[in-house]
Amino acid sequence: MLIDTHSHLFEEEFDADRHEVVERAERAGVERIVLPAIERSSNERLFEMCREYPHLAVPLMGLHPTSINENPDWREELHEVERWLTTPPAGVERFYGVGEIGLDLYWSRDFLSEQEEALRAQLDMALRFNLPVAIHTREAWSEMIGVVSDYRTRGLRGVFHAFAGDLDTYRTLREMGDFKFGVGGVVTYKKSGVAEVVREIPLEDILLETDSPYLTPVPYRGKRNESSYVSLVCAEVARIKGVEPDVVAAQTTLNAKQLFGLK
Ligand SMILES: [Zn+2]
Repeated sequence: MLIDTHSHLFEEEFDADRHEVVERAERAGVERIVLPAIERSSNERLFEMCREYPHLAVPLMGLHPTSINENPDWREELHEVERWLTTPPAGVERFYGVGEIGLDLYWSRDFLSEQEEALRAQLDMALRFNLPVAIHTREAWSEMIGVVSDYRTRGLRGVFHAFAGDLDTYRTLREMGDFKFGVGGVVTYKKSGVAEVVREIPLEDILLETDSPYLTPVPYRGKRNESSYVSLVCAEVARIKGVEPDVVAAQTTLNAKQLFGLK
């Protein structure tokens, strides 16, 4: 069995065939799909997917860093995140973590202080609600290390999703908290350098993910990603580590269940 620990199947890219996508995932052995929130405008779609597939969906609640850029209402949206964590919407039992949160300086560096304020506020929420975090980091590893180091002794736990940092970054972050590192389709891209880092990270620290509809693994690179392809990520991690895919599936599924508190 597999768990896709990061997927946005609630996005409109899947409106035409979401049911088939979910069926393919289940046939590929995916037993749970973690759905990180992005922003207010897509939250209702996330809730609807949880109502439709309660046995499969593992919803997170948070405000994505790129949704803070040029958004005059981001502080209001942050309050809304807290309200949903306190009182989930009708038909949604609970949220299993705070995400997707983080820092993204790829598009612009102009909103770093706002992104950092939102990140710290949501890390605080995670501690207050005793939930893990799902952290997005793009072109901001040194800034991320700076923020997370302030939480070093506070019992933060979570996943650095789509981890693309180097081995030093992995080691630095790993000693700052109970962190896992999300591996997705990028591990199949030859020039990414992710495979070399994954080789050195113990399986106990790895979660598998797709980040659907983005970051599609080879041989489907360039097309829409979907949760069934997490089996391709599993196979590639197994190849890199020289073990059977079953071993990778079992350990990473256990890791995900422990982190998100799944049965
Ligand atoms: Zn994401």
